[in-house]
Amino acid sequence: MEKDEILDHLKTPKLDKELFGKADETRKRYCGNEVYIRGIIEFSSYCCRNCLYCGLRRENKKLRRYRMRPEGIVELCKKIIDIGVNTIVLQSGDDFYYTQEMVSSIIEAIKDEGNAAITLSLGERPVEDYSKWKEAGADRYLLKHETANPRLYEKIHPGQRFKKRIDLLLALRDMGYQIGAGNIVGLPGQTFEDMANDILLLRELDVDMAGIGPFIPQKDTPLGKFPGGDLNLTLRVLALTRILTKNAHLPATTALATLDPESGQRMGLKAGANVIMPDFTPNGYREKYVIYDKKVRVTLERAEEVILRAGREISKRRGDSLKCTRHQRASVYI
Ligand code: SF4
Repeated sequence: MEKDEILDHLKTPKLDKELFGKADETRKRYCGNEVYIRGIIEFSSYCCRNCLYCGLRRENKKLRRYRMRPEGIVELCKKIIDIGVNTIVLQSGDDFYYTQEMVSSIIEAIKDEGNAAITLSLGERPVEDYSKWKEAGADRYLLKHETANPRLYEKIHPGQRFKKRIDLLLALRDMGYQIGAGNIVGLPGQTFEDMANDILLLRELDVDMAGIGPFIPQKDTPLGKFPGGDLNLTLRVLALTRILTKNAHLPATTALATLDPESGQRMGLKAGANVIMPDFTPNGYREKYVIYDKKVRVTLERAEEVILRAGREISKRRGDSLKCTRHQRASVYI
């Protein structure tokens, strides 16, 4: 599918039925019927960056911040592994309080529990940190590109460079990580062409996974008064990404559930998604991780219910990258 056709689909709601059907067929053919459960822990709400759309931005003085202790993170991971979930996603703001050594120790302690996959989502760090964490046993790294329009990217990420983001993703892949990028749909100032370029970039990067969610405003940020993204447009971007990337892992994001708590994620599963990420962040912390407003909590039970209601199978296996040509290792088949 070329750019003109992508643009037609983005702009034409009446093509949705056909588009979502094609995405669902593609998902079935390349990824099967399983929906992978990834357990996420948001362990720190501190961030040194200042992204215009995010409630964790450093200039948001209204946010109550927290950091989990490394031992607490490891304990929680053990509990998640004990209930059979074999991928753990460790996410935080860009928080340099957690040194390379601290994160390496956390990874090693989790790996002592078995062979659960570890996905890191800790933002931009020196490549030496990424390299040490890979040596410690990390499997995947999620670093969303947010928008493929470099000017828009640099406007909403003060002090950050689009080229650096892409260079880091490529460096992570060279180190052997399964990489994840992803984008926000409906950012103020974003055009249909930008969205088409997001999808084409995901194909070009040949990502192992991609997180695609709508823009949802957070009231204490500079973009807090802009309208939120549209559910159907987000589903179109998701479906097109499935068709173009074929076997990338694509979550039905929590942001979809936030826009439509009853059916948002189920619609995502019907439009090409094959992953759900329930939130295991403990009470007392979770409410403070306010990237955007009114974020719903997707529990394991809720994720399982959504999967079953969509007529799909629950999988708590590692669910490694399906891009076997690049990741020729035994774990792919576990
Ligand atoms: S989007 Fe990420 S890097 Fe930007 S302020 Fe939020 S947590 Fe920090």
